[in-house]
Amino acid sequence: MRGRYAPSPTGYLHLGNVRTALVAYLQARQAGSSFVLRIEDLDSARSRPDYIRANMTELQYLGIDWDEGPDVKGPYKPYIQSERHDFYEEALKTLVESGQVFECFLSRKELRDLASAPHGQMPIYGQAERALNEKLKAQKKLEGKTPSLRFRVEQVLVSFNDGFMGEQSFEVSDFIVRRADGEWAYQLAVVVDDALMKIEEVVRGEDLLESTAAQLILYKALGYKAPTFFHVPLLIDETGERMSKRKGSLTVTALREVGVKAERILGFLAYSLDLHDKLEPLSMAELKELYQADKLKKEAFKLEKHHLEFLGVP
Ligand code: GLU
Repeated sequence: MRGRYAPSPTGYLHLGNVRTALVAYLQARQAGSSFVLRIEDLDSARSRPDYIRANMTELQYLGIDWDEGPDVKGPYKPYIQSERHDFYEEALKTLVESGQVFECFLSRKELRDLASAPHGQMPIYGQAERALNEKLKAQKKLEGKTPSLRFRVEQVLVSFNDGFMGEQSFEVSDFIVRRADGEWAYQLAVVVDDALMKIEEVVRGEDLLESTAAQLILYKALGYKAPTFFHVPLLIDETGERMSKRKGSLTVTALREVGVKAERILGFLAYSLDLHDKLEPLSMAELKELYQADKLKKEAFKLEKHHLEFLGVP
């Protein structure tokens, strides 16, 4: 079960990020398989090279190591998305040849405004949008506008069995594979990378559950075998919102800087995952002993004041 953790270097890793990383790591290590670290730095406006190093240091601080990654290489290098354009280009070519890619001149916002039904993260692109897109094409080209590339999907219901969350079904319609500014869409890059890096189990946060449906369509269109998926419920902060880098949620770097030991962070993470019923420091070796996927907490975990006190946050 080759596993992976794929952080976006857009900030330091917060407790929610490393909680998911820890599950991915323990899943792989318990199965005795390789663990891959892949850097997902396609968002060039928000990614920063210094965060790549920082994220690796944060994981290492907790005792999470990897067999393949940007610093150790491996058979499927490079392990950093900004150096993998050729692979994405190749995949896009396959999709274009299948006749399922089209140029879209409508922005995400325009699509959302037009969407007839509310639809989670992915705006529906149906007949009305198609007609409007055709109408706008000539005019937008004259204005020198470049289109985004979308993969055409006739609204389908995709079902899959998540290794943790169970049976899932999501409706999928057309989605972006390459943005109008030329940047690769997450959906395309993540599928190409997980497939080419021979990842067999994708462990990631529950916020990406819906994306899996679109990704499964791409696995099929590209002729790849899909991995199994394991989505971990999120960590909710003291204010009741999910942790996020943009919001400046509590990071491993911040804890480390005030002298919080890795064992204390691991102890908290294990407790929050229901792997241990006492809030006390734990070593990675102890955590490996305790790890049992079927014990993992099924709901989101809310961070309370006494957890922060345990962590030694002033
Ligand atoms: N790079 C994504 C993130 O940091 C994770 C993508 C994935 O695991 O599929 O949120």
